[in-house]
Amino acid sequence: MRTSFPAFLFGLLLPCFLSAQSVPRIFCGNELFSEMVATQYPEWAQSIETTFEQAKLTQAGPRTTLTIPAVVHVVWNQPEENLSDELIEAQIQVLNEDFNRMNSDTGNLRSMFEWVAGSADIEFELVTILRRETTTMFEVDILSGNIIPEVKHTDDGGSDAFFTGNFLNIWVCNIQPLKVGPIVIGQILGFAFPPADLDNWPPGSNAPNADEDGVVIDYRVFGPDNPTPVEIPGGSGNLVVKGRTPTHEVAHYLGLRHIWGDGGTFGPNDCMQSDGVDDTPYADSESAFDCDITKNTCTGIDEFYGLDMPDLIENFMDYASEDCMNMFTKGQVEIMRNVLMGPRSGLLESTSIDSETTEAQTWNVSPNPASTFARITFQTPLVESSFFRLLDQYGRQVTSFIVGAGQHATDLDLTSIPGGMYVLVSEGDGLIQTSRIVVHN
Ligand SMILES: [Zn+2]
Repeated sequence: MRTSFPAFLFGLLLPCFLSAQSVPRIFCGNELFSEMVATQYPEWAQSIETTFEQAKLTQAGPRTTLTIPAVVHVVWNQPEENLSDELIEAQIQVLNEDFNRMNSDTGNLRSMFEWVAGSADIEFELVTILRRETTTMFEVDILSGNIIPEVKHTDDGGSDAFFTGNFLNIWVCNIQPLKVGPIVIGQILGFAFPPADLDNWPPGSNAPNADEDGVVIDYRVFGPDNPTPVEIPGGSGNLVVKGRTPTHEVAHYLGLRHIWGDGGTFGPNDCMQSDGVDDTPYADSESAFDCDITKNTCTGIDEFYGLDMPDLIENFMDYASEDCMNMFTKGQVEIMRNVLMGPRSGLLESTSIDSETTEAQTWNVSPNPASTFARITFQTPLVESSFFRLLDQYGRQVTSFIVGAGQHATDLDLTSIPGGMYVLVSEGDGLIQTSRIVVHN
């Protein structure tokens, strides 16, 4: 069933394409400004140091890297929409860099914000790419609130979700221009549903159905070197595309809101609208795909900094040009990690989704790559029978079989399986687990 969405959601999803500004590539370390602030407020350095120490205290304790398994659905009609494996892998690499502050442009962050920049210690692993050719046009209907659920359902010309509780599903498709009647009013680059029941999101903003949870990205802004340009309405050139739209949308999926607090969506569009994060300075509007380091929409003392801070245009959760954004804050990072260990912890549990299971059952496949057969070996004999499916790269089931209770191992016959990459999925015995298998035949 399709669900209508209230207008507020569109405020979150619509990049501000309505403002047809150019995209100046301005970079400046702005040390001069930083010095000026320090001169004006002699206590600034000490207050920053104190706050930094407090922030470090709250993050004390061992911190492990969290890994998110990702499935990318490429739903295409024209050849240029059928993105290459290399481009998709490069996009995963961008996510890994941006979420771990390993991106090459961290040095572009203004020095006054360096102390709040954080690494999420979140990694992304590409499990598989599912490709579907389609004739469906993915048109957002602003009047009915339809945000293209079709792309997530094979029967509607899309690609069925792949275990959304355990995998980050990313659908890449050609999102049609946003229209009201015959008039084009903009272009949605992507959108994502946040997890349910987060304090920093309004109730009901999560996915309407579990099988529609995930991220949708327009094919032109997926990948760091995407060959298809996105023209900025108004004839002022093309968007800079470096793979940061997926960074932005995956962060929404992990609970983050826009840094300006989505005023006009969640409440009055003023400087008191917070995104639920302390260390993102107040702002009352989004950047216009530019790189305006003079932007300071909320003057007055920012409580966290104890100073009047400019807008944090380098943040991934603003709409600055992609070659201007380069950071998450520590506060944002903590939200994402908490979400991942809380509402979205299923992503970390590819070996078990059933909380009633007392002991997660895991298995290994060997050899891998394999040719004639692969042996699946269980850590302990199965308590209950388990259902296995072998899926090809298009998500099609190649074969299935059941392994009975009490078994320690089973052999998968591969003699009639064409060479390629496959995903073996097990369900049952209170567990779900996947493993990639490369077949050499
Ligand atoms: Zn957004």
